[in-house]
Amino acid sequence: MEFHLPPEPKFVQIPREFHSLENDGPFEKCLKCEVELLHSGLPYMIERVFVLDEPIIEYAMCESCVLKSQSELSAESRQSVTDYMLSHLDIASRMQRLSAWAETGKDDASAMMDRCLFSGNRAEDCREKQIAAWCRGNQMRVDHMFPLMISGVAIEELNGVLSEQTRGWIDDFVGDSFGMPPEFCDNPDFRPVLI
Ligand SMILES: [Zn+2]
Repeated sequence: MEFHLPPEPKFVQIPREFHSLENDGPFEKCLKCEVELLHSGLPYMIERVFVLDEPIIEYAMCESCVLKSQSELSAESRQSVTDYMLSHLDIASRMQRLSAWAETGKDDASAMMDRCLFSGNRAEDCREKQIAAWCRGNQMRVDHMFPLMISGVAIEELNGVLSEQTRGWIDDFVGDSFGMPPEFCDNPDFRPVLI
């Protein structure tokens, strides 16, 4: 079988979907350590969680804070999330779409987020969804995983594989950073997943 290496990642201007509603523009600081992001050249992740079209959680986090956060999740949960991804991610179809997008030569990478990475559900059919991207300066990286969209259904499934300890950790993170949105209190299986 022929093995295709992922194509070189491309960088495009960060699209509006990854702007901060609060800033009415790009994210500027890391949520945790408050390091400056737009001009420092540090890689950082943006995550936004939507119910219908309303962002209920949004943040940017520098790479070192992302790694620190991930290391605080239980080993058991990290393994379960990896297993879930491996069994649900259709990497061949993702690569195909990535190549098709790259061939258009366009900056608009929304086609890479119009379906759930795991369930394949269309974005417009999702009541809840989470989007995530890796950025540097004002540029967003487009590669075999990111930017991604995860549907509410897949978020709930992912929550189902997390350990009690990890769920508690995420609840604390969300509560401390944003105040717990009522959507999460209504549905205990719907909390953002730190990728
Ligand atoms: Zn940070």
